[in-house]
Amino acid sequence: MRRRLAILGNGPAAGRLLDDLATRGGLGAFDVAVYGEEPHGNYNRILVGRVVTGAGVDEITTKPADWYATRGVTFHRGVKVERLDPAARRLVTSTGEEHPYDTAVFATGSAAAVPPVDGLRQPDGSPRGGVHVFRTAADCEAIRGRSRPGASAVVVGGGLLGLEAAKALSDIGLHVTVLHRGETLMNAQLDRFGGGLLRRAIEGVGVFVRTGTTAAEVIGNGKVEAVRLDAGGVLPADLVVFACGVVPRVEAAKASGVPVGRGILVNDRLATAVPGVYAVGECAEHAGVVYGLVAPIWEQAAVLADVLTGANPQARYRGSKMYARLKVAGVEVASMGRVEPEFDSDEVVQVFEDRRGVYRKLIVRDGRLVGAMLVGCTAAAPGLVQLFDRGDPLPPNRLDVLATAGGSAADPEVCNCHRVTESALVAAVRGGCSTLPMLADATRAGTGCGSCRGRLAGLIAEHAPGVPTRTT
Ligand SMILES: Cc1cc2nc3c(=O)[nH]c(=O)nc-3n(C[C@H](O)[C@H](O)[C@H](O)COP(=O)(O)OP(=O)(O)OC[C@H]3O[C@@H](n4cnc5c(N)ncnc54)[C@H](O)[C@@H]3O)c2cc1C
Repeated sequence: MRRRLAILGNGPAAGRLLDDLATRGGLGAFDVAVYGEEPHGNYNRILVGRVVTGAGVDEITTKPADWYATRGVTFHRGVKVERLDPAARRLVTSTGEEHPYDTAVFATGSAAAVPPVDGLRQPDGSPRGGVHVFRTAADCEAIRGRSRPGASAVVVGGGLLGLEAAKALSDIGLHVTVLHRGETLMNAQLDRFGGGLLRRAIEGVGVFVRTGTTAAEVIGNGKVEAVRLDAGGVLPADLVVFACGVVPRVEAAKASGVPVGRGILVNDRLATAVPGVYAVGECAEHAGVVYGLVAPIWEQAAVLADVLTGANPQARYRGSKMYARLKVAGVEVASMGRVEPEFDSDEVVQVFEDRRGVYRKLIVRDGRLVGAMLVGCTAAAPGLVQLFDRGDPLPPNRLDVLATAGGSAADPEVCNCHRVTESALVAAVRGGCSTLPMLADATRAGTGCGSCRGRLAGLIAEHAPGVPTRTT
């Protein structure tokens, strides 16, 4: 009899694990069952803001319901798993159904964090109308349902998620104010200078930004009418969106007796201390770190697929170097490693092009890159990511790594989310992939944050058969 593999959760981590199992023959070797609390097939959460501006969830769905059926995977859509009974190797759903498993993988991800702000609930305990978070397709549908052109929205949080939410709301005609407790927008990824440039850009698209303050109280009779700021003053608001970070979803693991810290504790094989139980993605805590971006999740999924299928039983996850390449409110941003120097001996290289709105910064230690940020132009990001990831020595003229579009690597990564190199893309284009969807199907490139899609279009234009080859 085939072993039964239960995957709890159906977000990007589960989707990637399914793909990686498939390429290792795992979908034939296991009876795979996916339990997804959300009612949709697997969708690209990075693009969920498009639902606010009017896209249907199907437009960002990467695995519709028939994807599972045609591959023999049982998809329990809209089903939440309450807990495992590891001794009996059975799982219990929120409707009380029980299903047996041999191996279970928690891929339960994160939930939006909501800070302790007064007035989120009405005196009778029910949620106040117009208060939202920004995480799932349902959240975005609810935000869209509440949004009217000319209405005012307050977005609490000036990190990646807050700025994405603000841009989406501004695009559909709301008057938007972002509140950010720190002095610098996206301060986890950018220094004051980079954050200032981003602020200029986001204000340029019509969003108001207030730094150094946050929401102290949501005020209203039944529904939101205003937000009181902790620095004093009141902002009228028809809608409040909290985008203040995430907390790992560990409740089902806890109820199953699986050890939990901030996330579900896993070792280098992504195994928990409970036999037959693994965790992957934003719900997992590895070596004290819970990751909040997709690149580390892709690395975890590959290791777990190797381990589960036996394709490489020695595969080990050793942690990920953090980098992000994003498009925030139309501005390209890339950031990796340190934001500021740590020691007097750290070298800092900064290039600022005011007219172009471009800022680039490198932090170099012992001749190697330990941090970089790019705002306004991320052409050098693929090469920098490779230098950062591998710890390769930088050329003596540090500016060389910023000057070349693809960085210094011979075969730069174009899609950092899926680690697709230029040579692989050129081969796919020459093999007949003449559109972005064809290239995405063949290589996955462009299906993560989407910030490389311009470059992909360029490669198609340059290398598709029938297009004259450049000789210079
Ligand atoms: C608007 C937005 C923009 C983003 N942009 C970027 C970006 O540009 N680059 C980047 O790297 N990252 C980005 N991220 C972060 C990225 O989306 C996350 O890292 C990724 O979604 C994590 O995937 P996951 O599968 O681990 O968790 P999740 O995406 O949280 O998915 C977990 C799923 O499991 C389900 N679930 C939970 N508990 C249970 C249960 N008990 N039973 C059944 N189902 C359950 C949940 O409902 C959910 O569907 C962005 C996130 C958002 C919201």
